[in-house]
This record gives sequence, C-alpha cells and structure tokens, in this order.
Amino acid sequence: MIAGILKEYGTEKRVAMLPCEAGNLKKMGVDVIVENQAGQNAYAFDEEYSSLGIIPSPRKDVISKATILLSVNPVPVDDLESCHEGQVLCSSLDPPENRLWLERAREKGLTVLALDLIPRISRAQSMDILSSMATVSGYKAVIHAASLLPRFFPMFMSASGTIKPSRVLVLGAGVAGLQAIAIARKLGAVVEVFDVRSAVKDEVKSLGGKFIEVEGAKEDAAAGGYAVEQSEDFRKKQQELIQKRARVADVIIATAQIPGKKAPLLIHKETVAGMKPGSVIIDLAASSGGNCEITENGKTVMFKGTVVIGKSDYPSEMSDDASRMFGNNILNLLKILIDKNGNLALNMQDEIINGTTAVHAKAYVSKRIKQMLNIK
Ligand code: NAD
Repeated sequence: MIAGILKEYGTEKRVAMLPCEAGNLKKMGVDVIVENQAGQNAYAFDEEYSSLGIIPSPRKDVISKATILLSVNPVPVDDLESCHEGQVLCSSLDPPENRLWLERAREKGLTVLALDLIPRISRAQSMDILSSMATVSGYKAVIHAASLLPRFFPMFMSASGTIKPSRVLVLGAGVAGLQAIAIARKLGAVVEVFDVRSAVKDEVKSLGGKFIEVEGAKEDAAAGGYAVEQSEDFRKKQQELIQKRARVADVIIATAQIPGKKAPLLIHKETVAGMKPGSVIIDLAASSGGNCEITENGKTVMFKGTVVIGKSDYPSEMSDDASRMFGNNILNLLKILIDKNGNLALNMQDEIINGTTAVHAKAYVSKRIKQMLNIK
C-alpha cells in the first residue's frame, strides 16, 4: 500500500504528516510519498522527508499512485475528479459544509475517512483530531488574549504598586475550554467557568478554575457526553449570571458548542459595551455562529473598547505542533486500518472504522453522517 501526503491549499499551514510520523508509518510496512513542499509551512522541508526515504513528488503523481491520500482539509474538487475508484481519502471533512463534495466522492466509488467523525470513545482518544486541535486552540486563544490585553494576567506586588490579577471567563469547559483554563491559571489569572454539563465541575476545580453553577441544566445520557439545548427558563437564568460575570472579566474565552446545532448565544451586545475598555473576547465557537453577539467569524471587531475575535484557525497558526498531533492521530487510526503486511484492511465491523467511514463502495456508511445529512 502507498500513502500519499498532500500539500494543503489556501492559508492552511499544517501538513497531515510531518517527517517523523511519516517515517513511523513506513516502519509499519507502508510505502509513503509526499507532495513537493507539502510540509514547508509547518517547517518540515523536502530534504527531511527524503532522508527517511519518503520521496517528494509532483501532486499529480501522488494522487495517481497513492492507495490512501492524507490531507488536513478535503482535497479540492478538481483533485477528486483525478482520483480513481477504490482510492481512499483521509482528512477532516465538516460534512454539512461539504455535502456535494462527499456525494461526488460516493458516486466515484472513493472511500472517504472523515477524521472529524472518529467516535469519541476511550479506544479512539489517540486518533481524535477534534480533541488535539481543540487543545491547540484553547492554548493559543489564551496566549493571544494575553498578548492583546493592556493589563497583566498575574498579580504583581512591586515597588511601583500592586497590580490586580486579570479575570478570565471561560464559557464551555470541553477540550478547548479546559486547556484555556489551565493556561490562564498558569499565567496567574483568576478564572471563572460556565458549562451546562455537571460532569466537568471537578475537572474545572482541579485546574484551579471556579465553576459557576446554574441550577436546572438539562443533560442527556444519549448525547454521548455532549451538551444539549437548554430550556428557555434555564437559558434566562444562565444568561443573567453570565452577563454579570462577563462585565467584570478582562478576557472571555468562548468555546460553548452543541454538536450539529448553532452555538448558544451567551454574551449580549450590551454586556460587551459594559466591559472594561481594553478587554478581549476570543470566540472559538465563531464558525458555528459564535457565543457573542458581536462575533464575526474570521474577523477582529472593536466594539466600545473591547476587541472581539472570531477565530477558528489557531491550529494552522501553530503549524508545527498541530501537524505533529494531527499526524499522530492519523498514524493511530492507520494502525487499526492496515494489516501486518502493510495492506489496507477496512473492517467495517469495527466501531471506529465504521463510524469514521463517510462513504465506501458507493454507499454512505457512518451512522452519524447519515443523521447529519439526513440520509435514509
Ligand atoms: P464541544 O466543543 O462540543 O463544546 C464545548 C463545551 O461547551 C462543552 O463542554 C459543552 O458542554 C459546553 N456548552 C454547550 N452549551 C453550553 C452553554 N449553553 N453554556 C455553557 N457551556 C455550554 O465539546 P468538546 O470539547 O468536543 O467535548 C465534548 C464531550 O466530548 C466531553 O464530554 C468530552 O469529555 C468528550 N470527549 C470524549 C473524547 C473521547 O473519549 N475520545 C474525546 C474528546 C472529548
């Protein structure tokens, strides 16, 4: 089997596999080729791949030769047309955004492994790109906020006077939120946290954050550990409390999301207007609508002295380590996809493989993809 690592398009700086992980894939008996300059924006140059026997080649050669194509983002439609029946594409997908792309891949008889569909079960933790990339985002969001804030994060007692610590409000204590809490605490800020899942209360506390509980949150065991939409009554209570805490915060890191739904609106325009001038809001839920009324996805907006950043591409900005984590996630997935001779062996009875396969043999496979795209 041949695995082909493709160069990304547009502003994306990550690469699906850095030389080290690609070398480890070779050790598993897989031939690996890489597109020319695929890793350069992640500081991995062709010579490094070559030194491991991974030959940099033109894109068309990688596409025509590879059994499985590895990329961070789905390949452009033109490349899809060049792919041949039975070929496997492995990348993140965002199915609702790429519905037509996926339908074309299905018609052509391609197999699509959607890394963002990997089931969130313990056995799949090492393959979970949503978690690894959320870890990067949570970290980078706090560092970015600290660099923009015209105030210190930690408390200072000096001859020039005492500086109070900054207050950071974290909305949503999932993977990104927990990472944000940990980093903000390490930088010395006072951290307050809201979430609708009571299960995260102890995790927040153990990281040094203060969990602000709003009674009456709806939880659903069938949601697989994810949040569900809340009642109108709960929303009102939660909103009142959040607006109060937001007004005294220097930084808000907003990460609250509900899978498949618009992100909950948690910070009103009036609240932003009431924040201390110079405050910073980083909205990591921007691509699904944002937690703040002012947020514009991919933009920085200055509103009454507070800067509101809607951002979803922090992993690309930390291309080296983000690519390392992404490549390791793929490597761990491939370990269950290939046999001891290095050949592809897709066992659709395996919960992880079945859950991650969007289309195969001209059919939609994953139960989640069928739900997401409303396919019977
Ligand atoms: P996410 O990105 O879907 O949401 C982020 C957080 O926002 C969640 O904690 C959610 O509860 C919270 N939220 C939603 N609505 C809210 C509201 N109105 N107010 C406040 N907070 C709100 O979450 P995620 O980071 O993807 O993690 C979600 C779940 O997946 C967690 O239970 C986590 O433990 C689990 N998980 C499992 C694995 C695994 O086992 N492989 C890996 C990663 C995450």
